[in-house]
Amino acid sequence: METQCPFCSVQCKMRLTESGSGAGGEAQYAVEAKPNRASEGRLCVKGMNAYQHAVSEDRILYPLVKREGGFERISWEGAIALIVNRFKQIEQESGADAIGVYGGGSLTNETAYLLGKFTRVALRSKHIDYNGRFCMSAAASAGSKALGLDRGLTNPLSDIPLAKCIVLAGTNIAECQPTLMPYFTRAKENGTFIIVIDPRETGTSKLADLHLKVRPGMDASLANGMLRSLLDEGLVDEAFVRARTRGYDELKAHLLEQSVEEIAVMTGVPVDSIRRAASAFGKADTGMVFTARGVEQQTDGYMAVRNLINLVLLTGKIGKPGCGYGAITGQGNGQGGREHGQKADQLPGYRSIENPEHRAYVADVWGVDPNDLPGKGVSAYEMMEKVYEGDIRALLVMGSNPVVSNPNASLVQAAMERLDLLVVADMFMSETARSADLILPVTAYLENEGTLTNLEGRVLLREAHRPAPGEAKNDWRILCELAHGLGRGTYFRYEHAEQIFEELRVASRGGIADYYGITYDRLRREEGVYWPCPDPTEEGIGRMFEASFAHADGRAELIAVDNHWPAELADEEYPIYLTTGRVLSHYLTGVQTRRSHTLASRDFESFVELHPKTAKQHGLTDGKLAVVASRRGEIVVRCRITRTIRDDTIFVPMHWGDSQNVNVLTNQALDPTCRMPGFKVCAVRIRPFISN
Ligand code: SF4
Repeated sequence: METQCPFCSVQCKMRLTESGSGAGGEAQYAVEAKPNRASEGRLCVKGMNAYQHAVSEDRILYPLVKREGGFERISWEGAIALIVNRFKQIEQESGADAIGVYGGGSLTNETAYLLGKFTRVALRSKHIDYNGRFCMSAAASAGSKALGLDRGLTNPLSDIPLAKCIVLAGTNIAECQPTLMPYFTRAKENGTFIIVIDPRETGTSKLADLHLKVRPGMDASLANGMLRSLLDEGLVDEAFVRARTRGYDELKAHLLEQSVEEIAVMTGVPVDSIRRAASAFGKADTGMVFTARGVEQQTDGYMAVRNLINLVLLTGKIGKPGCGYGAITGQGNGQGGREHGQKADQLPGYRSIENPEHRAYVADVWGVDPNDLPGKGVSAYEMMEKVYEGDIRALLVMGSNPVVSNPNASLVQAAMERLDLLVVADMFMSETARSADLILPVTAYLENEGTLTNLEGRVLLREAHRPAPGEAKNDWRILCELAHGLGRGTYFRYEHAEQIFEELRVASRGGIADYYGITYDRLRREEGVYWPCPDPTEEGIGRMFEASFAHADGRAELIAVDNHWPAELADEEYPIYLTTGRVLSHYLTGVQTRRSHTLASRDFESFVELHPKTAKQHGLTDGKLAVVASRRGEIVVRCRITRTIRDDTIFVPMHWGDSQNVNVLTNQALDPTCRMPGFKVCAVRIRPFISN
């Protein structure tokens, strides 16, 4: 069978051939990488072992209901009836907005679309948001405001080796999207100057000609230093800026007030390095800037990305071969997951739920009165707060593990316990599922047909190849059954994923993320089509903004960005900065990769990475356990002492729950524009763990 890896936005292609049975009788597969245009025939260790979770004996095979503190099997009919009755009762008592829906960026486009429609048409609630709020919201908002639309990369991946200078800001591609690395090594072989911005040395920073080891949370300010240096050196492309952008005069005036020397002190990056980076980027004929969660998961993530897009625009490096901006999406469908309406403020096609014309268009496609569509809800973490406060009494979680992925996770865990009804649709007993009243078993990537949109904006079809084990169902089918139970089945008559996609095409038509020209037939024939693709006879657009930007006036928007400090600063009580991130073997909160025996054995527990100086100051030993504490809680993790990290910063990965859940420590403060939490920096203290 040919399929795609579910574990990141590259969506690498592979062939699986059944090769026997494991010790428990589960299927085993020989895995072979197959070329598609993004992966070029590569797979990383996650992809090679992705099937293992799908055949895991830990799969939940039947609907489960919690009784007397334990879970018992229940029929699908019984589970749906129970959920529907509780939803109806809660709606009667507290109104439709007392029911919330929490989605995920790994769901197919079809399920993401249907989840938004289910919430607004079947539940008639305004409360839907998803874990992509923690992944892409800063870059998505910044791209939309600066360029007029948000598509992860403005160029095809094949443009990367054409860039003469590349800035990799807060992105550890070597561990998160490893099969992209050859694009950058090819660039390097072509003589490209590579600048990495990261507080840590990583597999990615090994490529760097210049590594700016920025203090966590100071990326926006560092970009100001680079922009000021561009001005000083006369490296602004005035012709491009005057012809294709607006807001330059305000930005220039703001930059003239900046001092590179002061920014060097704030960011911990020497003046010479800031100037060298600006000079290299400004003087290169072609160049690209990439951001990822290191820049975006900040309480000023939106502004930090805007400032790095300013760098691209001021130098005229966009809309040409080897030039552009890219947000390296993390989740398997991080791009598509944010386009079809599972965000609190969004309808399909990237339409706004607050825009009357957009509401009317989508309501017409759905066959409902636009006045019946609810308004804008709140962001993912704010939903958790509403649960905690009792405003949301029932929650449906699909394709997500909010107890581990939200900041301030102890509050989120407490919130789950306060719900009158928690329904979790998952393959496994995740940390969130443990708190559920009902668990609904869903299909894995080998069993569920649907489309996903890779980090380039290329839509790909993933076919189903295995029957669902036990009584597991496709997530979109569960939504249809719930909608029928709620008396809204007339709006949810689908027998196949393709029927949902056909409706999605129409719902997205004329919107920013226009899929109208994309069909399953085309996807089978052409192996992927870029959006925007408004017509079935047209090719999608690979390189964006060659002639104009997507704003009504065709211009990109420059913006002046203030220097920001992180929401929480180190002090005497909590003297160290904590930053979080990923490791090669694991995906998201590890619900799936921790069930792959090969991946789990590579990294079977969390750790804290810290500098020898920090270890000495706090009496810590390599390989021994440490307690890391913030104002919100504490965790216990094993020390890895290394000189590859700043001595004022420690790093803990995000893939484990319970006593190793780093999000027990992280700060719930949100970016004011995109509502992204500041995962990447909070103040902590650390001490040796002493067992009783
Ligand atoms: Fe490819 Fe990403 Fe899967 Fe690795 S995790 S095989 S890079 S899709």
